[in-house]
Amino acid sequence: MRPVHLSVNGLPDAYREITMSLLVGVVDRMTVSIVDLPVVSKRSHGIGDVANRVRNVILKLETKDGLVGWGEASPWPVFTGSVEGTSAALDVYFRPLVIGQNPMHITAVMEATEATLVGHFEAKAALEMALYDLVGKAVGLPVSELLGGRCRSRIPLSISLANPDFAADLELAKRVYADGLRILKVKMGFSDHRFDLDRLQVLREELPSDMEIRVDYNQGMKPYEALKRLRDIEVFQPGFIEQPVPAKEWTTMTELTSKLDTPVMADESVFSPVDAIRAVERRIANCFSIKVMKSGGMRHGQEVATVANAGGIGCYGGDMFETGLAHLAGVHMIAATPNISLGCEFYQASYYLKQDLLTKPFPLENGEVVVPETPGLGIDVDSDRLKEFIVDSRG
Ligand SMILES: [Mg+2]
Repeated sequence: MRPVHLSVNGLPDAYREITMSLLVGVVDRMTVSIVDLPVVSKRSHGIGDVANRVRNVILKLETKDGLVGWGEASPWPVFTGSVEGTSAALDVYFRPLVIGQNPMHITAVMEATEATLVGHFEAKAALEMALYDLVGKAVGLPVSELLGGRCRSRIPLSISLANPDFAADLELAKRVYADGLRILKVKMGFSDHRFDLDRLQVLREELPSDMEIRVDYNQGMKPYEALKRLRDIEVFQPGFIEQPVPAKEWTTMTELTSKLDTPVMADESVFSPVDAIRAVERRIANCFSIKVMKSGGMRHGQEVATVANAGGIGCYGGDMFETGLAHLAGVHMIAATPNISLGCEFYQASYYLKQDLLTKPFPLENGEVVVPETPGLGIDVDSDRLKEFIVDSRG
């Protein structure tokens, strides 16, 4: 990869390059680790279940001077990709693109990943995240300031209910209300329609009226049944209806968006800025769920939000089965992106993993995420705790 060379104040490129390298150093070491993380309960979704544990990839970049940048990839085979493919993408394909490079050249490094390997968005997200964390620490700025500057300091948090044992979920919903959360997302379409209607009925009866309830089918409906069933669902006044039908069913998404009163959200149907342009043109949804793992990094996530904003589409901060580390990348992206204004779902570190990997608790207060103001992503990985969960490590 050729680094980007720009002239500043008439200084020769080489002089600027040396100055920047003295400030930050070059990436000297890269460690790619697969972690196996126990979770508190089974979860069911329209496209599949998660039980017992999730497997993610933790990336550590280091400079000779001791600066460290952390990144995470959180693939899910039925949604994004595999942990094995993600680990190989980072270890085999991206390692040569970053070792020896000035970490401030984030654009050039990420362009090189595009020219080296198609797809593998989670691996690209992990690399971009680690570079921003490292550079933020080097220059003393939080990542949100490097992404354009923060426009919000708190983000409303939503938790997702997906436990096939609904009694346990109802208890959880009451607990998070007491913690200050005022948004719930109910995962639908993994059992039968009656089960979904009954759960919404009970939640509406048992929870105070200021708890917003949204629903997410994770592609779980058949196109021919979706409109009729969603009209039943609308009786319970959900805040939005997320990805009711399979990702490729764009014609049905467009039809549902035009015929339902409730906003329809696209998640699995929209990954990239190119998807977003087409989705705006075909009006497949009223809102998009933006995820760092889908777009391949925070900056591509911001690009999706920019396209959405131009098309009058609202945006929400989604996530995968992440630790607090990947949550933080999403937090900084949302903090610097005005149009991601529908809250976020960064709850796994606090409510779903048996143990998170960060040195401090993920920053929640009264049902909102508090955007860190310390340099980089704001909280480091606890290296000793990380070791307990590693099942494979390269570097
Ligand atoms: Mg979703």
